[in-house]
Amino acid sequence: MTIAHRHTERSRADALRASVAAARALEAQGRRIARLDIGEPHFPTPPHIVDAAHAAMRDGATKYVSPQGLSELRHAIAATQRARGLETTGDDVVVTPGVKPMLMYALMAVCRSGDEVLVPDPGYPGYTAAARLAGAHVRHYPLVHTGDAFVLDLDGLRAAITPTTHVLVINSPQNPTGMVLDMQALEAIAEIALRHDLWVLSDEIYTALTYDGPPPPSIATLPGMGERTIVVDGFSKAYAMTGWRLGYAILPPRLVSAVTTLVADGSTCTPPFVQHAGVAALTGPQTAVVEMRREYRARRNALIHQLRAIPGVRAPMPAGALYAFAGVEALMERGSIASSTDMASSLLHRHHVACVGGAAFGAGGERHLRLSFAVSAEQLDDALVRIAAWGSSLGA
Ligand code: PLP
Repeated sequence: MTIAHRHTERSRADALRASVAAARALEAQGRRIARLDIGEPHFPTPPHIVDAAHAAMRDGATKYVSPQGLSELRHAIAATQRARGLETTGDDVVVTPGVKPMLMYALMAVCRSGDEVLVPDPGYPGYTAAARLAGAHVRHYPLVHTGDAFVLDLDGLRAAITPTTHVLVINSPQNPTGMVLDMQALEAIAEIALRHDLWVLSDEIYTALTYDGPPPPSIATLPGMGERTIVVDGFSKAYAMTGWRLGYAILPPRLVSAVTTLVADGSTCTPPFVQHAGVAALTGPQTAVVEMRREYRARRNALIHQLRAIPGVRAPMPAGALYAFAGVEALMERGSIASSTDMASSLLHRHHVACVGGAAFGAGGERHLRLSFAVSAEQLDDALVRIAAWGSSLGA
């Protein structure tokens, strides 16, 4: 069996892609679907960023460049991240075409075959995919509901660690739950990482999308953590640049050369005009980011309000990221629905609202639905009406 075959058979990311494909198939038949399935900002990329790419292309930034990334971009990244307390010079930054390939390169750089990578459950399926492609084993650690939020289950995390655990993946703000790890949680995780001598892969792609307080700190700022933490971040979400493919890692210096070689051999480099757009994003006005965040916050509140109005739906308020992660256990029981995938499928086919069954994010996501609020105000209004109709049809 090829690596690709084995990977495809076991890929959880496939479940996510299957929901998106089902929604697209209905759209192709002419149905109007409220698309709350993909975590993609509907806003256009801010015009000054697009202009910077045009100008760079006209200036000839259309050739191969350094696999590590343009110095100008790496230094802009370093300045931005230093402002939130990270110690980085830019020499420790490696740029990739999106965060996703960096997850794989980073794990390839630190894992030997068979090492264990601990990933959150529920969590972004890209971690499992990247770990498997890097030849590592995946183990899960649980997030749990307490009151109105998802939190890390520290005892569950400790219990998941084995002698072969090598990397701990954390993600805050988190996809799919919206959980934000506070300083106390980060300190506890740091203590565990130090005690068990673990690498930490900290996915901070949603840092700019935090709604009820300041952006969360990075675990890399804690004592002893800089040298064992790989911080990954990117432009897809904060700057509405999903299709540009631009991400990066801030690496402990001993990993820079290995990861740069992987980029050189895997992707050659990240397109230079895209990197110039990234410089404009970081060094230009941040008003668009502030405005988009304000809009997402309003849409988050409206979506959670509507979900909470449906008896049997548990809808914790996500502190960050772009998703409601609603518990629908009671509804599944009432409707004798066997799985969250079936529930999402019924919502799609009966009410034309596309969302993702929580099982796509791990066993701990079962009995939940993930609904994105990164959609236009019109789409969301439309979706809210349909969700209300769904609630009524279930006897709400
Ligand atoms: N990390 C998380 C938590 C995500 O939710 C996503 C995309 O949905 C990514 C990484 C991938 O980002 P990129 O578009 O930079 O590859």
